[in-house]
Amino acid sequence: MLVPHAQGVPIFNRLYIHIPFCIEKCRYCAFVSTPPEAGELLEYPELLLRELQLRTSHNEPVDSFYFGGGTPSLLQPEQVARLLGEITKRPDAEITLEANPGTVDLSSLRAFRSSGINRISLGIQSFDDGFLRGLGRIHSAGQSRQAFADIREAGFDNVSIDLIHSLPNQSLDQWRLELHHAIALGPEHISIYGLTVEEGTPFALTYPPNSPELADEDLSADMFELADELLTAAGFEHYEIANYARPGFRSQHNSGYWHRDGYLGLGVAAHSFLRDGYGVRFSNPDNLEEYRREVTSGELVRVGEQRMMRDDAMAEYLFLGLRLSEGISPPAFEQEFGQSLASVYGSVIDELVRFELLTQTESSLSLTRRGMLLSNQVFGKFLL
Ligand code: SF4
Repeated sequence: MLVPHAQGVPIFNRLYIHIPFCIEKCRYCAFVSTPPEAGELLEYPELLLRELQLRTSHNEPVDSFYFGGGTPSLLQPEQVARLLGEITKRPDAEITLEANPGTVDLSSLRAFRSSGINRISLGIQSFDDGFLRGLGRIHSAGQSRQAFADIREAGFDNVSIDLIHSLPNQSLDQWRLELHHAIALGPEHISIYGLTVEEGTPFALTYPPNSPELADEDLSADMFELADELLTAAGFEHYEIANYARPGFRSQHNSGYWHRDGYLGLGVAAHSFLRDGYGVRFSNPDNLEEYRREVTSGELVRVGEQRMMRDDAMAEYLFLGLRLSEGISPPAFEQEFGQSLASVYGSVIDELVRFELLTQTESSLSLTRRGMLLSNQVFGKFLL
């Protein structure tokens, strides 16, 4: 299945596996995840193995492998090892497992390390027990610190943590304290998200639009800028709108998304992007019952398949590439699409540069810090 397409790019070189289970649903969460029913944690990895066999029949090595969720650390390390054993990987492949505090201990982490996992992404979200309770997280800040210590003790030297800002009633000083705690913990990578209240979640009922408890745009922008200031001063590179890394520790897997590398997604609700023509996007069914039916019958369906046209691919190249601090390279754009960036988007780029949302040199086009704050408006300008 892994065959080069016309321009010599592999159809996919990255694998994502979605684990749609969590012990409890967090109050703000709109991801595809539910508490597992009896037997599902045993059954699901078998379905994944079957899907893997159905979708791949190649021995080409992948560059990265990512277990996301949900809570992938609810899987047994032996199950993870079996899945990893089915895939040929480059010797230096990045293999990440998302873990939640309260679901791992030193023994399970050692076993995950032995299974081949070499990077952990730990869902800390906040170091404040009050905020954690408000979010409906199952763990305390103390459990997060213990999990991080256990991760180190188990031998992981590449660890990312997630934090959320703009929580209900959170002040700028409280956010500053969160950042200090994160820096003191000493991870190699930090992902930072502003809270968004998603429709259909308990949070949306508690906090309807314009609730006074929610951060307004100015406070959210201040929080974004404070993170940039404190984390870069502490030696992190702000390499993507929401991501910071110590030198040498950028997420390889996620960087692949922003570079439009092909990836195959396995499991309930997993998305795939194949580098076939200008690109093909599709996903798996978003409920376990339907996914089970398809995998066991051997008839996989591509939900919402979209075969991209050249214009879509060019716009996406910009949306994704501009998320990175180094931005995009106009010569690389021309090589990919056979047309210069200026000839397609020249007037839009000039306008955004005038408004100091983009900065341009001969070899790069990137967002300014203000452009990062207003990234959605910037990206909207590139829709032809
Ligand atoms: S742990 Fe993550 S995926 Fe699971 S319910 Fe909470 S936010 Fe959602």
